Amino acid sequence: MDHRLRRERIAARLPEIGIDALLVTRLPNVRYLTGFTGSSGQVLVTADPNTSVFLTDGRYTEQARHEVPDLQRGTYLSNFPGAFAQACGDAGVGRVGFESSGVSYRLHGRLAAAADADLVAVEDEIEQLRWAKDPDEIALIGRAQAITDEAFERILAKLVEGVSERDLALELEFTMRQTGADGLAFDSIVAFGENAAEPHHHPTDRALRPGDVVKLDFGALFDGYHSDMTRTVAFGEPSPELRGVHEVVARSQQAGIEAIRAGVSGGEADAAARAVIEEAGRAEAFSHSLGHGVGLEIHEGPSLRRSGEDVLPVVAVVTVEPGVYVPGLGGVRIEDMVEVTADGCRVIGTSPRELLVI
Ligand code: ZN
Ligand code: ZN
Repeated sequence: MDHRLRRERIAARLPEIGIDALLVTRLPNVRYLTGFTGSSGQVLVTADPNTSVFLTDGRYTEQARHEVPDLQRGTYLSNFPGAFAQACGDAGVGRVGFESSGVSYRLHGRLAAAADADLVAVEDEIEQLRWAKDPDEIALIGRAQAITDEAFERILAKLVEGVSERDLALELEFTMRQTGADGLAFDSIVAFGENAAEPHHHPTDRALRPGDVVKLDFGALFDGYHSDMTRTVAFGEPSPELRGVHEVVARSQQAGIEAIRAGVSGGEADAAARAVIEEAGRAEAFSHSLGHGVGLEIHEGPSLRRSGEDVLPVVAVVTVEPGVYVPGLGGVRIEDMVEVTADGCRVIGTSPRELLVI
């Protein structure tokens, strides 16, 4: 990962934003700009790489020495605002941007009191830089998804009558960790039968019965990068209605995938997928957005939502995940991550998308 290049890109943006420096406090952004993986770190990016500084507390001095070798480093005991003020003074910066979604109201007050600088709220600067992935990031997301595909294949053998949602969620976690995941990308969603009507169901003791659909939404975390996939399979022959719902969702996902290419807005992709579900008379049952970006965070930009204006760049990684949820009956969601290309997109995973009947 070329962290220096990423910092240079931000440094080049500073005059356009109208600031002398940007204080980066959101951890995924700190990691993106420096490679630092700890839980406490901040970066002050200035126009001059020699005055940019990485700050952390004493627990991470040694780790930062390894992970952030190419940047000036400062350590504080507990007084981050004091260290920030010192860094601003050393760099001679007067207008300093801060991440409006990464600084609490309380911290803002402390920073403003400590530093002799004007603080300027800045929104999504680094997040937007992160939309388009570089080849190393695509490789890590691919690894995370390969673990997810492997876990899906293995979990199918565990679908037996009487197994609980909780058991399967645990099995998914065990399998993914066994095949190399650092952890879960997020808490797995395992929903049987009528529980599948909840888009974000939390696993319970509900036991699997013939005729249930099984909705699995899960992913692996690998070296800081996430994967995200949903499959809905049938345990025993599903009712004709559920089979029909699966068919509509599959066609909707395909329409979404076909609508995606660089330059298209998230809203356009959402509309293409939503139209299929609307034509099937299920408009109300698709109660969420089509998808979201995935990378250092499980949910990041660009967003594929109704009327969404985010424009997809080449090498963005986004999910395509339409769903139809029918209270009392169940629900179907099919989700894959795709890599956006100039003239289309590439599905990253390899798990089958057709309805599997176990
Ligand atoms: Zn998901
Ligand atoms: Zn998702």
